[in-house]
Amino acid sequence: MKGAVLYGPRDVRYAEREDPTIVEPTDAIIRLPATCICGSDLWPYRGIDPVTQPTPMGHEYVGIVEEVGSAVKKIKPGQFVVGSFFASDNTCAICQAGYQSRCVQAEVMTQIGTQAPRARIPLADGTLVATPDLPSDDLIPSLLATSDVLGTGWFAADAANVQPGSTVAVVGDGAVGLLGVLAAKQMGAERIIAMSRHAPRQQLAREFGATDIVSERGDEGVARIKDLTGGLGAHSVIEAVGTQESMLQAIRATRPGGYVGYVGVSHDVQLPGEELFFAEVHLFGGPAPVRRFLPHLIDLVCHRKINPGKVFDLTLPLDQVAEGYRAMDERRAIKVLLRP
Ligand SMILES: [Zn+2]
Repeated sequence: MKGAVLYGPRDVRYAEREDPTIVEPTDAIIRLPATCICGSDLWPYRGIDPVTQPTPMGHEYVGIVEEVGSAVKKIKPGQFVVGSFFASDNTCAICQAGYQSRCVQAEVMTQIGTQAPRARIPLADGTLVATPDLPSDDLIPSLLATSDVLGTGWFAADAANVQPGSTVAVVGDGAVGLLGVLAAKQMGAERIIAMSRHAPRQQLAREFGATDIVSERGDEGVARIKDLTGGLGAHSVIEAVGTQESMLQAIRATRPGGYVGYVGVSHDVQLPGEELFFAEVHLFGGPAPVRRFLPHLIDLVCHRKINPGKVFDLTLPLDQVAEGYRAMDERRAIKVLLRP
């Protein structure tokens, strides 16, 4: 089969890859009707994370189960399934506590590369959640969004302790930040301040529930959040970028006693201890345990209560994956859906 392979900085190709097969008896093989490009794929694409050998790309997926290993009991061929970017057994003590992204058997799906027509899914019974019926085609983008961007935005809102009636600020207007807005809305936030300077993203943030837009960044952005919150800062702040500037912006925009939920993959962030000490805010984040939220998110999508698939503003055939990366790199697209 052919799929996305990264050869070096800004050199992603639709190239020949090995056909997936059952390796462990706990594996499943799925066929993907759609896959997508993640903001975090841009770190290696831009050469910020080094690429030392041709690397299959992609970690978001939905699909129809084609085949299961001999030890797979719950997942059956023919089911439509969604999984997260970490395969997990969903039975160990860490999984049971709701942190499947740190499962003792966790396998990161970036090593498999799901920007492909078919994929091997490890620990199928723990990793995959089946939809109640075969979904209609128009639901597929939203189901695909639950696999990472929505699950991650949801975890960020959960980690930021979003409560009914609270004020939430969101740092980052990528797909995760925008779906953090949607999550905060679903959790009952009264005021949701999206930080964005791009008109199409501001528009989508408003559709997802943002009540205010702040286009300033850094200290000016923090000052605007303070202005909007009676000088106090937000109760909850979602950080969905992963840089020094965005992390400090998030901490400084949070009121004392408030919460920062950070899900932007951290790159060279150094926290100043003394400032952190006196900020007196809760900091919690990391790779989202999307598996914890999947049953609820799939239910919301299948009942058409939410439409997170709106973050896909460009759809391309998988063989044009290189154009998809360029469009996201140049911020011409929020998120690219690929059709194998
Ligand atoms: Zn586990």
